[in-house]
Amino acid sequence: MDKTTDVLIIGAGGGGAILGIALSRKGIANLVLEQAAGPPEGLRGEILQPNGQALLHNLGLLEALPADASKPVRFFHFLKSGGKRLCTIDYGMLPPPFNRALVMWPNVVHHTILDCLQRENSNGLHFNATFKSFLREENHIVGVQAEIDGVPLQIGAQVVVGADGPFSQVREAMGISASLHRYKDGYLVAALDSPDDFGEAQYYVGKKTILGLFPAPGQKVYALYMVSSHSLNQLKEQGVAALREKWKTIAPALGSLFDSFVDWDQTAYMGTGRVRAKTWSVDRAVVMGDAAHGMNPHASQGRMQAMVDALTLASVLEDCQRKQDWTAKSLEPFETARRSHITMLQQLADEEVFFWNTGNPVLGMLRDRVFRTMDANRRLQYQVLSATAGLRSTAPFGWLDRFQAAGLLPDPRADQVPVHTQPA
Ligand SMILES: Cc1cc2nc3c(=O)[nH]c(=O)nc-3n(C[C@H](O)[C@H](O)[C@H](O)COP(=O)(O)OP(=O)(O)OC[C@H]3O[C@@H](n4cnc5c(N)ncnc54)[C@H](O)[C@@H]3O)c2cc1C
Repeated sequence: MDKTTDVLIIGAGGGGAILGIALSRKGIANLVLEQAAGPPEGLRGEILQPNGQALLHNLGLLEALPADASKPVRFFHFLKSGGKRLCTIDYGMLPPPFNRALVMWPNVVHHTILDCLQRENSNGLHFNATFKSFLREENHIVGVQAEIDGVPLQIGAQVVVGADGPFSQVREAMGISASLHRYKDGYLVAALDSPDDFGEAQYYVGKKTILGLFPAPGQKVYALYMVSSHSLNQLKEQGVAALREKWKTIAPALGSLFDSFVDWDQTAYMGTGRVRAKTWSVDRAVVMGDAAHGMNPHASQGRMQAMVDALTLASVLEDCQRKQDWTAKSLEPFETARRSHITMLQQLADEEVFFWNTGNPVLGMLRDRVFRTMDANRRLQYQVLSATAGLRSTAPFGWLDRFQAAGLLPDPRADQVPVHTQPA
């Protein structure tokens, strides 16, 4: 072997980089291989939900973010395309201090995490480093064949972690079957200039329409517009002015905001997919994050859950090291701890997109009714919000809640929400 380590992590994305930090802090030797040439650049919208804020705070990383890189947002208004308000969700209902969403400047969270990883494990992160295949002895995984800066290298490890995203090659090499679903609709993200008074998020839903507008740091607003990948070219051919006018009909009160959209360079298109891996571990190898369970980004929980995975897996790996047992059975507590929460979030995000983006008038009416009920029913609002915020691991609505949300049954507990007090 050219190098050896205990835990070899493939991919320095949202999950792999946090795992590297967590293992280093536990004194467990690890290496992270990242195929990209350096930290990511480019436009993308990113929201840190309360669970992610708390996790980064506990690692000392939330406070390390540049002060001007985030915009706290308390209110999310849901409106019908055309401007009629349906519902307002108030993050202030959640336990303080993380009772807000943080809209982030692109990539800044990730750069902060990578800086920390490099500081705390100075030779632990390799860019331009690609996983090629497993090395096996008597059919057991003993490391990987990699390529670093174009040079082939054999790296020995007790366990290999596939944190290499939805199209994971590690998962494939492990022989784990997975269903990969590419959603027909992705998000066109645009950075617009913010009017002075734009401090609350707005989500417009209509017939086959979702337009989210999020106040962002640096006097910007991120627009997230749902577009199917096959109609993107047509949209671009129609030109910037046509899209600007379309947005003005969806959100007529915000006409001046859209005037700052003048060039496709202000946009990026992000396709979306969902991954369901049949199992997450085999002897001496395990997958995590999007490699195990990529989800619809609509939930804005993908990075959050990859980070939770990292901390859970770090504890399980600590146990494996103590027992010197890296078998699938010893790795299994990771999947046991995580899978049901992940499945709930995948289903929640899919269900939300299905109803929000529907072209069916009956389903559209039902959606609007549920929003209107939630506007007046703080209990149901809290249940949905706490799931979106990553603070609840079970589905927000049971069957009775569904009937109540649709307005088919009264809800005598409509005002019952937990009361939180601000810390002194
Ligand atoms: C449009 C969009 C918006 C999103 N918005 C949010 C949001 O607001 N909040 C949120 O929490 N999540 C969001 N997500 C989801 C989030 O980005 C992912 O869920 C999260 O990054 C998953 O982390 P990961 O570490 O599992 O995978 P990734 O972050 O994808 O990292 C995988 C890494 O592995 C590397 N890699 C791949 N193959 C190899 C190889 N063979 N060798 C070495 N390295 C390799 C890749 O280069 C990459 O760096 C969004 C996603 C999309 C598409």
